[in-house]
Amino acid sequence: MIKDKVRVKTFKIDDVAVTGRSDSTILEVAKEHGIHIPTLCYLEGLSCVGACRMCIVEIKGSSKLIPSCTAKIKEDMEVITNSSRLIKHRKMILSMIFAERTHTCSVCVSNGHCELQSQATDIGLEHSLVPYIHKGFDVDASHKEYVYDPNRCILCTRCVRVCSEVEGAHALDILGRGISAKIIHDMDEPWSTSESCTSCGKCVQVCPTGALFEKGASATEMVKKKSIVTNLIQARKNK
Ligand code: SF4
Ligand code: SF4
Repeated sequence: MIKDKVRVKTFKIDDVAVTGRSDSTILEVAKEHGIHIPTLCYLEGLSCVGACRMCIVEIKGSSKLIPSCTAKIKEDMEVITNSSRLIKHRKMILSMIFAERTHTCSVCVSNGHCELQSQATDIGLEHSLVPYIHKGFDVDASHKEYVYDPNRCILCTRCVRVCSEVEGAHALDILGRGISAKIIHDMDEPWSTSESCTSCGKCVQVCPTGALFEKGASATEMVKKKSIVTNLIQARKNK
């Protein structure tokens, strides 16, 4: 099989001329050029799933908004990352995430260190634009070190991907669809009885919210250390 050659492509992001490898995504090239695009489900080194849609961008000449984490670059394309239309859509995306579960920041262990909270602050979202649903889930505190609170989960699947792609355990998956969807251990068993979980804690460190946290940690102590995972991924790549 003849592989497509990787070439350099030239295009524009926010009127800035940029270049990138033809197999790059818009988000990757934006990052390389110091252009900020908000993300939530994305984590450098893990597969990209385009789940949260926060990284949507506009392409001149198209009415569609596309997730920049999965969209490959094209020669001469003109990307817009920060229009009023995009801000409006990102506010609505965040509102729907907040409204679906119970994100009461003041009583959350991740208060002050939560990526969902930071995104809302950055974009100036002062209140949800849609009514709250607050679907309730049972908290799983069965593990000796960690807790999973589905009420804080935004279904970004970072935990599922890191467990499968980095730890190689695949102890986690998603059960159900839509508002009823939740992260499960093995066949929806209590975390403590999971036979595939190695208790490595990688899922906890990459979780952007207070859905996964260490037992007995206060809000000031429970600062997620994503770099442990991203550095590990980078070190493996460099081998
Ligand atoms: S602690 Fe490690 S093995 Fe267990 S679910 Fe989390 S990432 Fe997977
Ligand atoms: S538990 Fe955390 S990392 Fe996993 S899907 Fe929910 S918010 Fe994302």
